[in-house]
Amino acid sequence: MTLIDSRVAAGRRESADGRRSIPSVEQVLQALPPTPLPRALVVATVRAMLGEVRATHAETDFETVVGEISAALRRLARTRLRPVINGTGVLLHTNLGRAPLAPEAVAAVAAAAGHYTNLEFDVEAGERGGRAAYVERALALACGAEAATVVNNCAAALVLVLRHCTATRPEVLVSRGELIQIGGGFRIPDILAASGARLCEVGTTNQTSLDDYAGRIGPETGLILKVHRSNFRMEGFVASPSTAALASLAQDRDVPFVEDLGSGAIEPIEAPHFEPREPTAAEILSAGADLVTFSGDKLFGGPQAGIIVGRGAMVAALKHEPLFRALRCDKLVFAALEATVEAWLSGRAAEQLPVHAMMRTPVAVLRERAERLQAALRSSGVPVRVVECSATVGGGSMPTAEIPSIGVELSAAPVPAAELRRRLLQHSPPVAGVVVRDGVRIDLRTVFPAQDETVADAFRAAFDAGSAAARGGGAAG
Ligand SMILES: *Cc1c(COP(=O)(O)O)cnc(C)c1O
Repeated sequence: MTLIDSRVAAGRRESADGRRSIPSVEQVLQALPPTPLPRALVVATVRAMLGEVRATHAETDFETVVGEISAALRRLARTRLRPVINGTGVLLHTNLGRAPLAPEAVAAVAAAAGHYTNLEFDVEAGERGGRAAYVERALALACGAEAATVVNNCAAALVLVLRHCTATRPEVLVSRGELIQIGGGFRIPDILAASGARLCEVGTTNQTSLDDYAGRIGPETGLILKVHRSNFRMEGFVASPSTAALASLAQDRDVPFVEDLGSGAIEPIEAPHFEPREPTAAEILSAGADLVTFSGDKLFGGPQAGIIVGRGAMVAALKHEPLFRALRCDKLVFAALEATVEAWLSGRAAEQLPVHAMMRTPVAVLRERAERLQAALRSSGVPVRVVECSATVGGGSMPTAEIPSIGVELSAAPVPAAELRRRLLQHSPPVAGVVVRDGVRIDLRTVFPAQDETVADAFRAAFDAGSAAARGGGAAG
């Protein structure tokens, strides 16, 4: 029996009550177009969807069932981890995986990934060695710290620090102006609760004084925590004690003092549109904090990680916490971190780390790329235009910084902008743009120059499909 025959046969099978019967898994599998997904995943999907059809007693024919399952498999395949072109103008886009790695870091990851490594092996001595000793030493140096260590992310770093500091004295002092939420699912009060710490709120939302802290320190106080307002600004009648003032109070009263910096600037980023600038980890340590925590994949420009720097004795004690074993990173993260911190230490961060290179690309260079794109697209009948826009740092860093940028905008009325955006996302690789007025914009600051051609292809496909849809053509799907 041919494929067509089997489809027809299956489509015609009707049960006694006149309802078309549900095709078998095998019949559907034979009728599906080729897919890159493993067979087990395809079979499971087919089984689940046929189960749904059975459960809902829906009136269906074979072609419709196969079409729906095939579309579901295509959607499933598109959720596999893969590169996306970032045309959003948000440099550290948490949904797009924050910082892309430097080519040096990518090479280091590849080398470590496919081979055995000296992860916990001292090649000199020929025996078991310390894990991550090199990267810890390099990170400490980059941050002007006595010591450093690394866990899975900044949230994990904070949990580890909280667990350690509140083991005997459970109370943690945090200003009411710093009980913040970072992105989805990270709220300081929740992290404290999850760590078994007791939150002791200090001061008010806009005003917290040193006396407010001093008045709340008691025998139960295990930690003073300062949280960097990394993803928002407060303006107006606002005051809170400096890191230095808090550090000296903490020292006088013999309470540890930790600052959660989050964004993790290693060197000051000086530019008019970066005011007020992010404090560096080294500045906070030299102001007297015992420990500073920050993310590896924000301004540091590396892989997802939580970096903890500060006093040698405290870092050593953290590494002895039983929880540390559960939060530690793997060799791939260490490989990427090593190459990233080396970029900082050799003064090449601005060229090597993509986020920092993108941050500094002159507007004139972006404009030239945009005009080239525009010329190429217009010659194939796609009416894009070059526009001025502003990029942002994102990822909970420098919330008010607007970086002058250049974008390419496509409108194809009467096709709605949201539809154009969706079409760019359907491209392979997907191109993430922003809906503006009646069109969709791709900000070139966050697009790698080597991706410009692909952006042009995606624009062409979106426009062609868009105009086909506008003409009432059925080929738009
Ligand atoms: C981003 C951020 C975090 C969370 O960092 P992850 O690495 O995503 O866990 C924590 N605190 C602050 C202040 C942040 O900005």
